[in-house]
Amino acid sequence: MFVTKIAIDLGTCNSLVFIPKKGIILQEPSVVALSEPEKKILAVGEEAKLMIGRTPETIKVYRPLKDGVIADYRVTQAMIKHFITKAQKGFNPFKPDLVISVPAGATSTERRAVIEAALTSGAKRAFVAKEPILAAIGAGIPIHSSQGNMVIDIGGGTSEIAVISLGGIVTSSSVRVGGDKMDTAISEYVKKKYNLVIGTQSAEEIKIKIGTAIPQKKENFIEVKGRDIISGLPRSVKIYSNELVGALKEVLEEIIEAIKQVLRKTPPELAADIMDKGMIMTGGGSLLRNIEQLISKTIAVPCFIGEAPLFCVIKGVGVVLENLDFYKKSLTTKK
Ligand code: ADP
Ligand code: MG
Repeated sequence: MFVTKIAIDLGTCNSLVFIPKKGIILQEPSVVALSEPEKKILAVGEEAKLMIGRTPETIKVYRPLKDGVIADYRVTQAMIKHFITKAQKGFNPFKPDLVISVPAGATSTERRAVIEAALTSGAKRAFVAKEPILAAIGAGIPIHSSQGNMVIDIGGGTSEIAVISLGGIVTSSSVRVGGDKMDTAISEYVKKKYNLVIGTQSAEEIKIKIGTAIPQKKENFIEVKGRDIISGLPRSVKIYSNELVGALKEVLEEIIEAIKQVLRKTPPELAADIMDKGMIMTGGGSLLRNIEQLISKTIAVPCFIGEAPLFCVIKGVGVVLENLDFYKKSLTTKK
């Protein structure tokens, strides 16, 4: 069977690809390796991620979508091409239709750039849709209802917060705070408290294994290896969950402030709906322990985590791909 329809979630950390009848066929880091100075693309995805921290000066490894915007057109094109090739596996006489997610904060120029990149990468037709709408669809929210729904997607580079009603975004905010900043906050904490320098990968591991947004009764701990600032030699320390509450406080406050800003801009009828039904969280960042409790406690509005939060956006893109006519009002394409 030839693949003629492909859905792509271009995330700042992870990109996912979905094909009708097959499901999610690919989940790869959004990383591209380029050779300097000729800027030739050497590797994309998993293969490129393996090069991080191990390259000679002539090779640079990028996360092109890091800040949620399409930083480099050519690199984006290479990523899309890579996904089409992987999805179609070998010879395929048909050009596929593509639906791709973009951050709600992307400008119309950026949206057109993604469409252009998809068309020049071999798509027959290319559509882009805004991430919060897709996250909402993927989390099972009836987006066309006249009831207001709020989605909070916490990704790696950005968090997107949006109130959706009647199939469109009523108010939204896209802030450059997410899982990456949590990692940075953890490595800064460890450096300050223990005079120990750790890598971003270790910081992420600490966050995933023992991180928590509010203090826990039963603490976990992890042993972390790094380099002592003073002696320059390797050393390890034990870190406990509740220490991370303080380390992550500022980053979480930034996310909560952005949620409050969106609520302040939300028309009262819709705000009342959200008060009743609660806010839905998606994205990898929502997997931080107790984050939903911290948010609902601070804002005094119930907060829930969507099912399989890392997959909500790609599920949403898949649903849109299979029902293009129904969702066409929520899509941008080349006229
Ligand atoms: P994006 O859509 O921007 O690519 P994702 O939704 O894939 O981002 O989320 C990636 C972020 O989620 C990373 O910062 C990662 O460390 C974080 N993450 C993944 N799993 C967990 C977990 N169990 N606890 C806390 N953070 C997590
Ligand atoms: Mg995402």
